[in-house]
Amino acid sequence: MDLLVLPGDDIGPEITAVACRVLKRASDIHGLDLRFEQRAVGVAAHQSSGSTVPDSVLDAALKADGIILGPAGMTAYPEATTGWLNVPGTIRKRLDLYANIRPARSRAGIPGARAGLDVTIVRENTEGFYSDRNMFLGSGEFMPTEDVALSVRKITRQASHRIARVAFEMAKGENRPVTVVGKRHVLQVSDGLFMEEVRRVAADYPDIPLTEVDIDAMAADIYTRPEKFGIILISNMFGDILSNLAVALSGSLGLAASLNAGDGRAAANAGHGSAPDIAGRGIANPLGLVQSTILLVDWLGRTRDKPAFTQAAAQLHQAVDRVLATPDTRPGDLGGPAGTEAVGDALVAALEDLA
Ligand code: ATP
Repeated sequence: MDLLVLPGDDIGPEITAVACRVLKRASDIHGLDLRFEQRAVGVAAHQSSGSTVPDSVLDAALKADGIILGPAGMTAYPEATTGWLNVPGTIRKRLDLYANIRPARSRAGIPGARAGLDVTIVRENTEGFYSDRNMFLGSGEFMPTEDVALSVRKITRQASHRIARVAFEMAKGENRPVTVVGKRHVLQVSDGLFMEEVRRVAADYPDIPLTEVDIDAMAADIYTRPEKFGIILISNMFGDILSNLAVALSGSLGLAASLNAGDGRAAANAGHGSAPDIAGRGIANPLGLVQSTILLVDWLGRTRDKPAFTQAAAQLHQAVDRVLATPDTRPGDLGGPAGTEAVGDALVAALEDLA
């Protein structure tokens, strides 16, 4: 399997190096035959090619079996000159990675973690208030007069249907209930359509319990009753907000894992930003990106029918659990003493021990 590695900006190269090192070791142990090709994106790519996402990278991304994408520093990109494209956004659109899968789980002993949390958020990645630009909506925002600003929320039957399918397939594979989140009584037309399609898909999965919860109730429930939820199916902006809340309840943004998936394509992409405030200091927590790559390995196992990948993913999850269970190998954002490299060493040692 060919993986395209795009380290990104700021802490991106530091955590990507660790994620790849751990994955290479898992590949050796489980005979996965992973091959890694690294290309520059972000500031480094702009310096050499004039674009943060060169066309050659997009071509390579279309050919790869999977992509490992470090965080890229969009917030620091200058607006005035050309070629400063949003890296993950451009890749997501070009490859039509319409599903953003974000698990959040609390583990014993992690400071601040909310006991009982074990959810996977399945977020629609292409519509809502963050709608893709097109000739009808422009940016999705406009001012009809100089005193009024409007935002358009785009929900389509097709995108709602396909994201619901991803959530129910996951729920079926993992034997978990689905909670669909929206604000149907206020956003009656757009969430009405979203829920209609969800119910249509749900009819194909009569054994999977489906509950509908409003986003405001959900924000409280995920804190007070985190154990109640399994798969959370949600539209784009609500999912953006709820996934940060969920990951904070698991202990730290540094644990945020995310897989962007489409039909036959997927990119592992940490759920946090490029953290310029701690870049170059060797203290970034690599576990968000490491867990994202585990999601990718598991996804390759399921979609390419490769049981060795599924087994490797399960063992990688165990290695992460071991590293987090030991206070000495926890990274600084979780109150531990381990730097980025030391967390990588501990993960490799745990993998070798488990093999
Ligand atoms: P973006 O807009 O790209 O999401 P941001 O600036 O809002 O970026 P982050 O870059 O994710 O957010 O950083 C938010 C805070 O979390 C910062 O203080 C950063 O240092 C911290 N942080 C983010 N990722 C990690 C990590 N992997 N390890 C440790 N701290 C992290």
